[in-house]
Amino acid sequence: MHDELHVECIICGETKTAGEGIRIISEFICDSCETEMVRTDVMDAKYPFFIHQLKQIFIEKNA
Ligand SMILES: [Zn+2]
Repeated sequence: MHDELHVECIICGETKTAGEGIRIISEFICDSCETEMVRTDVMDAKYPFFIHQLKQIFIEKNA
């Protein structure tokens, strides 16, 4: 029996299976985005984007 739960990555918005990434709270971040986040330096232009996306998670949960 295949149990492929499909989830949407909060960062890139792509639909993946649950095994292709990690969950933070109830949100999902795919492997490629997680890898990119780990590599992302504070000085990297993408960093504010990631923080913005992560803030949305906490804002939603606090609402
Ligand atoms: Zn992603």
